[in-house]
Amino acid sequence: MLAEVLVEVKAKQIEETFTYHIPDSLLDEVVVGKRVLVPFGPRKVEGFVLSIVQKEVDFPLKDVEEVIDEEAILNKELLDLGKYISQITFSSLISSYQVMLPKALKARHGKKVAIKEVSYISLIDATYHPRTPKQKELLDLLQGGPVLKKELENYSSSLKTLLEKGILEETKKEVYRRTAICEVEKERPTLTSEQEEVIERVEKKKSTFSPFLLHGVTGSGKTEVYMRLIEGVLKDKKEAIVLVPEISLTPQLVETFESRFGDNIAILHSGLSEGEKYDEWRKIVRGEVSIVIGARSAIFAPFTHLGIIIVDEEHTATYKQENNPKYHAITIALKRAKYHSCPLLLGSASPSLESYTRAKLGIYELLTMKKRIYSSLPRVDLIDMKENLKRGYPIFSKELVDALTTCFENQEQAILLLNRRGYSTVVTCHECGYKVTCPNCEIPLTYHKRENAMKCHYCDYTTSKPKKCPECGSMKMDEFGLGTEKLEEEFHRLFPQQKSIRMDVDTTSRKGSHDAIIKKFRSKEYQVLIGTQMIAKGLDFEDVTLVGVINGDAGLNIPDFRSSERTFDLLSQVAGRAGRAKKEGRVYIQGFNLDHYSITCAKEHNYEKFYEEEMKIRKSLRYPPYENLGCLEIIGKKEAECLSECEKIATYLKRHLPSSVTILGPTASFLPKVQHAHSYQLLLKYKNSKEVRKEVTFLKKQYQKNTHVTLDIDLSL
Ligand code: ADP
Ligand code: ZN
Ligand code: ZN
Repeated sequence: MLAEVLVEVKAKQIEETFTYHIPDSLLDEVVVGKRVLVPFGPRKVEGFVLSIVQKEVDFPLKDVEEVIDEEAILNKELLDLGKYISQITFSSLISSYQVMLPKALKARHGKKVAIKEVSYISLIDATYHPRTPKQKELLDLLQGGPVLKKELENYSSSLKTLLEKGILEETKKEVYRRTAICEVEKERPTLTSEQEEVIERVEKKKSTFSPFLLHGVTGSGKTEVYMRLIEGVLKDKKEAIVLVPEISLTPQLVETFESRFGDNIAILHSGLSEGEKYDEWRKIVRGEVSIVIGARSAIFAPFTHLGIIIVDEEHTATYKQENNPKYHAITIALKRAKYHSCPLLLGSASPSLESYTRAKLGIYELLTMKKRIYSSLPRVDLIDMKENLKRGYPIFSKELVDALTTCFENQEQAILLLNRRGYSTVVTCHECGYKVTCPNCEIPLTYHKRENAMKCHYCDYTTSKPKKCPECGSMKMDEFGLGTEKLEEEFHRLFPQQKSIRMDVDTTSRKGSHDAIIKKFRSKEYQVLIGTQMIAKGLDFEDVTLVGVINGDAGLNIPDFRSSERTFDLLSQVAGRAGRAKKEGRVYIQGFNLDHYSITCAKEHNYEKFYEEEMKIRKSLRYPPYENLGCLEIIGKKEAECLSECEKIATYLKRHLPSSVTILGPTASFLPKVQHAHSYQLLLKYKNSKEVRKEVTFLKKQYQKNTHVTLDIDLSL
């Protein structure tokens, strides 16, 4: 018997599987989908068994040395899914399998994640007569059954003696690192008619592949809809996956689900340790839980009887993986829902243009919830900062200062959003215009006052702030731009009596700090929460009645065809944080160019109008969803080489692709020099992806063994 084993050998980008002989002693253990240890050149590597064949070969084969897993970790569905991912993302098959698994189960030699165990002590020989009072106490304690070893610290010497004599025994028991709160709350709200209708329509199609888009305004009760649908799925003895954006995975959300479903839930997100992730994964494989809530990669939860997949905030950018394999979680969700013949529910208050278009075309069934459960949507005012600047209010407008004053007088809370962290965002020389930039990435460094450091927000390069200009020696270094750190300082200057808490990447790097900030703000210890886009989503605070957005138009300057969509989404989301309970909310959006439709439509809470305006632009510029947009990127150490390879590819594609395909570039990538590497890119706009895929697949093969440059392909922008 022979096994085809897929191994990861980083340096060589090896794609093929290798054949090994299965020794008789391992015949029963080697199974498709398990990991095995095999010799590879001078080393031993781990690999996945992809198939087992009975074949005679007339050349010598090396033996499979060891079987790592007791159970297959890749089942038939996941094995096929990996092939699909590798095909659509142009990534290696091995990387497609690795991306689906928690670190503990990836095929990587020498990186074991341990199972957590605790020791119990139990009494073996009950006839033994204690020799000391301490021994007697210990034996009495153990009469009632095994006791945690940790709890017997006071008896260490008696314990040692009796263990040696074989009177007592130590046994280890596996435990999970994370345990759920198990108090299940019985009371459920009475559903609104909008909620009822949505649930009914989804349940009608519960055993067919049926994708839905739920367009529900913020606070319309989408979470309750998700939970009711899951209850139905559990009744049918099936399982559910719920994807939420990473930053919404707050204890608040987890508690909401746990109070309904107890410990029937596994949680997967990047804040967990490798050990915790491994534990949550095992709960799924062992069939101990029927629900998974997690960020992007939770879409790979190895359930075998899926009854529904829910993707909350479906428009969120992080559902697309940024590194290879660059898969989109919704693409995978569609594939899995089809495989299991179950509904896929995509929920959002501001659906992506792609999803909304699919709903309009009938590819997704559109469901809507227009009403907030408690109050109406807050009133939004746009505040022109040109005027305020003249009046001497450069950061906080007069209007916002007045509103904050009233808010504090009423014992209510406020949220201030500024989507830039740090203190000031640009430091330049007053004399010669020299700009402090990152030596790795060539983007401006941000000044962080508390650490007195200049930081690159891309690669984390850190240096001190120059006292004089490195170019001309002038002592006049000017700071421009506003970050959350400076905003908080300014807030304290204006409102010295009020306490604020800040939430951005800088204040949440430690594990658990994100949750701690939310708890502290909820307890009303602080009056204001200041933060970046991190605070825009999912949070539900009863007493927040005021939301202020500083530089609400800043996102429109980002060179990305989705910048209008992102701006509309950010503003709508953060506006949705105000007045969610009984009290009415107010929102102030400050900026310099507020007449852009993404801002005016957010003010009016008018998604439809935004969609129509944005679709006109997409059409005229031939952007998605009208046409596909693909990106080919050449990355290497030498700039000239990257450029010339990119030009070669452009020439090749222009010759081989029909004229309906637009090829733009080569251009230096948006962040041209990421960590010492250069990159040039080509953009492709095309309707029919078949020809493009064919040519690009050919190109990918050509660059497989190139040692100077790599070709990175992303056809799913
Ligand atoms: P969304 O996710 O649509 O923004 P949520 O699910 O957070 O909205 O719901 C907003 C609030 O309304 C939550 O506090 C939730 O508990 C509550 N809620 C949801 N459905 C109902 C209902 N049928 N009756 C009363 N309260 C509800
Ligand atoms: Zn200078
Ligand atoms: Zn950098």
